[in-house]
Amino acid sequence: MNQKIKVSKFGGSSMKDLTAMNRSAQVVKTHETQIVVVSATYGTTNRLLDLIDQSLKQDWRSIFESILKIRKRHLDLCLELDGHHELSKSIYSLIDELVTLCTGIHYLKECTPKAKDRLQSIGEGLSSRIFTHVLKKNLPDKDVSFLDVRDYIFTDKNFTKAVPLTEIIRKNCIPLEQEILSNPNKFYVTQGFIGRTIDGETTTLGRGGSDYTASILGEALNAQEVQIWTDVAGIATTDPKICKQAQRINEITFKEAAEMATFGAKILHPTTLTPVKRKGIPVFVGSSYEPDAPGTWIKEKVNEQPLVRAVTIKEGQCLITLSNPDMLEAHGFLANIFSVFEKHDVSVDAITTSEISVAMTIDMKSVDNISFTKELERLGSVTYEKNMALVSIIGNNINHTPGVSLKIFEQLSNINIRMICQGASIHNFCVLVAQEEGKKAINNIHKTLIQ
Ligand code: ASP
Ligand code: MG
Repeated sequence: MNQKIKVSKFGGSSMKDLTAMNRSAQVVKTHETQIVVVSATYGTTNRLLDLIDQSLKQDWRSIFESILKIRKRHLDLCLELDGHHELSKSIYSLIDELVTLCTGIHYLKECTPKAKDRLQSIGEGLSSRIFTHVLKKNLPDKDVSFLDVRDYIFTDKNFTKAVPLTEIIRKNCIPLEQEILSNPNKFYVTQGFIGRTIDGETTTLGRGGSDYTASILGEALNAQEVQIWTDVAGIATTDPKICKQAQRINEITFKEAAEMATFGAKILHPTTLTPVKRKGIPVFVGSSYEPDAPGTWIKEKVNEQPLVRAVTIKEGQCLITLSNPDMLEAHGFLANIFSVFEKHDVSVDAITTSEISVAMTIDMKSVDNISFTKELERLGSVTYEKNMALVSIIGNNINHTPGVSLKIFEQLSNINIRMICQGASIHNFCVLVAQEEGKKAINNIHKTLIQ
């Protein structure tokens, strides 16, 4: 493996305004990351999603007003950058595309997942064009250009949550890798979050997907490291908004970090680590606001692997309990249940079973899908308990260490535990509690098991 290419990713808060963009550009300069992946400017993806809603429900005037706001924000950035003509032209043409898409959605009163992806992609389109220019100004002696990530990241047709086609991506990236390796002055800025199908249609990798983009490119380009720059300096032992004593983690393994992301830590998109992990490429998480702060390294092997590393919370969970006396000594029952989940694309976070019932937690929003719940209810009597929170204790060898559960339960002695999930992973011990008890649970566990 070569040891040269570095990939960096800057999130929305690092693209917030020109000050943030210049700060990010300086980070690129210091670390010489030749591939720079960017998210949309702060809040823009949400604005675009609101715009879809408006296009479906409201009159053209209010739709147009929202488009003008998005346009103004990005054109103002161009102006601040001395109004470079080519740059404004590319912004105008993306805004034209936005107008066309909104018009279509407005007249048809329908937004297909394909249209949604095309529309969302405009956010990263705008920010990446502008940041290319910012980087050019900050790196005057380098050769900086924009690269359309859709020429590299090919995906399946699962719009809004597309799956990258690893083999093809690797092939697409070979010439790019060679080009960058042979020219250390070459820097590219590209869009996070998006890809394209073999047929050329724009897709997205799911919300927060820019981290994933950086990891996919890191793998395909055999990168030396991937740097994720955000607005907090590294990964903390828990959410600092919930527990003031949260501490920065110096280094953490891929497995622990992946469990943290899956079980609620908002620092990384959950699938981010899969590609880099395959090649053992280390990931750095740092803050573009404090680029000199130490941050967190995510690696295959780390020096310290404490029993308890972190505690995370995933709110907005619904506990579904499905019971059916026919389950007694029957087989294939779970398969039936899971085929319903599969059909409706609902993923289960935690599960336990008893003789005639199964309890599972899923994202609360999935319960709004009537055809899903109806189908589930055909399999037995179903109860739903909403507003639950999954509290996960993440660490190492948790299921092989005597006494851990006692310590955990002591901290939860005055909280009702609705479900426990333990044993499947050496890295995770999960309890389900009412959402309003979540913060107390986190603070208690953090105090005794981490601090
Ligand atoms: N802009 C996209 C989002 O807000 C992707 C990202 O920021 O990672 O979800
Ligand atoms: Mg993000």
